[in-house]
Amino acid sequence: MVYNKFIYGQENGHDTIDHIGKEDHGMKERFYRFMQGRYGQDAFSRFLLGITGFCLLFNVLLHNRFLGVLAWALLIYTYYRIFSKNHSARYEENQRYLQGTAKARYWADQQKKLWQERRYHHIYTCPKCRQKIRIPRGKGRIMVRCPKCQHEFQKRS
Ligand SMILES: [Zn+2]
Repeated sequence: MVYNKFIYGQENGHDTIDHIGKEDHGMKERFYRFMQGRYGQDAFSRFLLGITGFCLLFNVLLHNRFLGVLAWALLIYTYYRIFSKNHSARYEENQRYLQGTAKARYWADQQKKLWQERRYHHIYTCPKCRQKIRIPRGKGRIMVRCPKCQHEFQKRS
């Protein structure tokens, strides 16, 4: 038996599973059969699950019943999308989500890169001309020469 539709947790599910079958009617196979032809996860559903997680967290922290109800509603909606067989409608929703959040996702991506950058570099501002200068971390006391105005100043990196 070959299953080449959707496999839960995988993006486009083109993998085949032929080692099951063999009169194995276990939970696993029933689950794969259930997922056949269904839309599955996409960026939008991962986003919705993230929001659901936040709602649940703040529901617990703030004892806010509304957030609890919202989390359940989001969870039901997300799984409705994942189990849906209307691929084109779900695809459209995902596209709208991607387009609507393009700027925000770009910004978040830049922030993430900046954060990673800070692990290895210090950003100093030249005291004379306010030029920003990037210095690798962990070099001890160093003299920094501003590339713009040639001003030298001492820093710890
Ligand atoms: Zn300078």
